[in-house]
Amino acid sequence: MPGVRTAQLGAVAQYSNALRDCQPSLLRQALGVSKALIHWLITPTCLLCLEPGQAPALDLCRGCEDDLPRTGRGCAICATPVAGPAIACDACLARRPAFDAVLAPYRYEFPLVELVHRLKYGGQVAIARILGTPLARRIAERGPPAVDALIPVPLHAAREVKRGYNQAGEIARFAGEILLLPVARNFATRLRATEEQAALPAIVRRINVSGAFAVRDVELPAAVAIVDDVLTTGSTADALARELKRAGCRRVEVWAVARAARAPDAAGYETR
Ligand SMILES: [Zn+2]
Ligand SMILES: [Zn+2]
Repeated sequence: MPGVRTAQLGAVAQYSNALRDCQPSLLRQALGVSKALIHWLITPTCLLCLEPGQAPALDLCRGCEDDLPRTGRGCAICATPVAGPAIACDACLARRPAFDAVLAPYRYEFPLVELVHRLKYGGQVAIARILGTPLARRIAERGPPAVDALIPVPLHAAREVKRGYNQAGEIARFAGEILLLPVARNFATRLRATEEQAALPAIVRRINVSGAFAVRDVELPAAVAIVDDVLTTGSTADALARELKRAGCRRVEVWAVARAARAPDAAGYETR
């Protein structure tokens, strides 16, 4: 019942995360009890099924984590689903992106669409833990990550101020905690507020993000992973990867929680 489950997300997210993320410090002062005791008292609750979540603080139960829609076999470079024995998709063969590999464990479908929307547009920053934790776990299953640092796709400063946070930065924070990787938030900046990518055709997306990023003139780690919530055409990640390589990174991976289907219609527009 996607409708019912979607409706549950907001109420439960606000309830359990507000309690856990905001109240403990107040309660600790007021009652003089330890944070550990508060965490014991306020157990996480799965946003999707309302069963107990995963201790100590993940509002997603193991069953619902296992049910998240996984991506299948894809292009070795961009992870787009490919048919038959092809190693790389037609788009990557025609124009190789600047990044070296994409790790996107999930398909951008229910319930990830709802979770991402609530994180990006609903102000529910705590959902970043529900997205960042499975992302990190699926990456860890493949073996030790081949990168030295995580670089969240930056938001334009004005948009980050308006939203109050960068959702990619929050996802990277939780993924980095699990994978013991530092999050480098200040290496890259977004020079201008590009139009929302979701509604644009693929070719316009490339033009839209070209020149959108700048990378600081500092010594960068040799291998980094760009972290984002959803990857669609990859044009944003491609533009940032290009700048990172220009600045000295030798290997740039892209880690996205979900991969949206590339399904251009006759006019070349992508569906989301
Ligand atoms: Zn559940
Ligand atoms: Zn590809």
